[in-house]
Amino acid sequence: MAILERNTRNIDNRYWNPGAEAFPVKNRYTAGVAGQRFFEELKENGRLFGSRCEDCNITYVPARIYCERCFNRLADKDWVDVGTEGTIFSFTFVHESKSGETKESPSLIAAIKIADSLLIHRLGETDEDSLQIGIRVKAKLKPQAKRKGGIEDIDYFKPL
Ligand SMILES: [Zn+2]
Repeated sequence: MAILERNTRNIDNRYWNPGAEAFPVKNRYTAGVAGQRFFEELKENGRLFGSRCEDCNITYVPARIYCERCFNRLADKDWVDVGTEGTIFSFTFVHESKSGETKESPSLIAAIKIADSLLIHRLGETDEDSLQIGIRVKAKLKPQAKRKGGIEDIDYFKPL
């Protein structure tokens, strides 16, 4: 279920069938005012937005409506297009699936510094030997028709 879809049956949220393949979370997740706009920009225009607090000299990604340091309200004028590139702050290999089974090939997950924030996401089009902390990466977005308004609209980040 994409982030912008709504659950119409609240009863579906009340229990979990352990035999089911997936946890049946179908409630509407709200990303909040800033989060919704952030994901709509990602879905419609393929852009990543942050919000900047001039008093603290910090740009948050994803964008927020309040500065978590000084509690200033961050208005529309504070929204900034931060581009789709970042720097690998840290990375790791994931050898197990969500269900605990060993994966045939490990996934690469990184903390990517964009503006003054870290975004956790997959890495692609790379390998263990060429990865280093500090290298620049760029978001590889899904085609616009396949985007759903969530962080999965970014397929992965790849080295520049
Ligand atoms: Zn601030």
